[in-house]
Amino acid sequence: MRHFAVVGSGPAGFYTAEALEKAYGDKARIDILDRYPVPYGLIRFGVAPDHQSLKAVSKRYDKVAESAGVDFIGNVNVGGDVSVAELLDLYDAVILATGAPHDRKLGIPGEDLPGVVGSAEFVGWYNGHPDFADLDPPLDGTHAAVIGNGNVALDCARILSKTRHEFEGSDIVAHALDALDNSAIRTITILGRRGPHQIAMTPKELGELGHLEAAVPIVEPSDFPPVEADEPLEPGLRKSVTLLRGFAEIDANKPKRMIFDFFAKPLAIEGDGKAEKIVVERTELDDKGAARGTGETYEVPATLIVTAIGYSSSPIPDVPFEGGKFVNEAGRISDRLYSVGWARRGPTGTIGTNRPDGYEVADQIAATMPLGSGGNRQGAEGLKRLLEERRIMPTDYDDWRKIEETETANARPGSPREKFVRVQHWMDALGR
Ligand code: NAP
Repeated sequence: MRHFAVVGSGPAGFYTAEALEKAYGDKARIDILDRYPVPYGLIRFGVAPDHQSLKAVSKRYDKVAESAGVDFIGNVNVGGDVSVAELLDLYDAVILATGAPHDRKLGIPGEDLPGVVGSAEFVGWYNGHPDFADLDPPLDGTHAAVIGNGNVALDCARILSKTRHEFEGSDIVAHALDALDNSAIRTITILGRRGPHQIAMTPKELGELGHLEAAVPIVEPSDFPPVEADEPLEPGLRKSVTLLRGFAEIDANKPKRMIFDFFAKPLAIEGDGKAEKIVVERTELDDKGAARGTGETYEVPATLIVTAIGYSSSPIPDVPFEGGKFVNEAGRISDRLYSVGWARRGPTGTIGTNRPDGYEVADQIAATMPLGSGGNRQGAEGLKRLLEERRIMPTDYDDWRKIEETETANARPGSPREKFVRVQHWMDALGR
């Protein structure tokens, strides 16, 4: 019997486990570990609460977790409670699927002022991530800004603009729903350091902005090149740019404005003990398409500033790490140690991108460890013994089911669940 440990229970972890299960059938046991007592990583803590159809992919992961060869072992911090070297001793292969949970920094003065929050923190706050339950972002000013032109920037801006009514059917946590309902924010500026042709926003996500109850998206037509210039764009991007252009035609009187400010590079964040404004430099594109400052500066008022400029992974002791991810070659880090998903590639692509990624690494493992060969490691049995010695209380898939039932029962009308936002509350739900 082969034993595999997949570290991380987000999309990359689940697709890898699914692929290993398909490759080995009943000749392998696959344990999906997570530092939290509950599974799904990005699906639970990252995907926007008003995007329930995307979150529904967890049903597919449930099937994987329920299959005979796969177990979920939660509440185990790899690199803390147990080392990678110990896992490699217990398992035939270890696959790091730990995602990219940390915010990249802008590297500009004033970035650490109160009122400046990274998108991982802000998203974690409204999605019930236990590390950010107490973030309490300042929503008492009238102006907010989101820095970045990707889908995460759109998520953050959209969530800031929505009404309580628009959150019906979502699983936004109660503390965020109440705070946002009382928010004074009326202007949300989305800052992109390059132009409309360089956005990383996809059409579906952008299209939603045209139909918000209380907010209207605003663009400056002079930021756009002539419409013929859209012709050579890749179809998805062309569609996004067409949607953006269309925002100039919207003539609606709504209380909130979402302003797209292109060619706007943040130079500094200023304020008296807390963020009050961003000093921005107007940019133009150089011949390689990069943003080049023009020397012209101006100020954007904002007492809440969300930076949504990409993520990096968490290093783990003794695992080579560079540029925000594990050093790997096609997923392989070293003998019997692999990485998949954002921990392997960096924070790009959709949830579905992780499927071929996980299957590719599983194929590599299957090629080096053929069915029926070797395999006399202890796997979960040894791991659980080690955890018991260290007084770590792991959770399993049945425990998650109990937590899920309680979260479902606690849901406000129309919502799928009311998430627990503290690790202890998860454990309380299990009577531990
Ligand atoms: P992203 O797509 O890489 O976008 C990052 C943005 O930040 C880019 O516009 C980038 O501009 C900008 N940026 C980077 N460094 C900057 C700096 N120093 N100053 C100003 N701007 C800076 O990353 P993301 O939005 O975090 O999304 C991560 C991945 O998750 C993406 O693949 C995304 O599509 C996916 N996602 C999908 C959905 C969905 O499908 N609904 C939702 C959320 C996220 P430059 O281009 O100039 O570098």
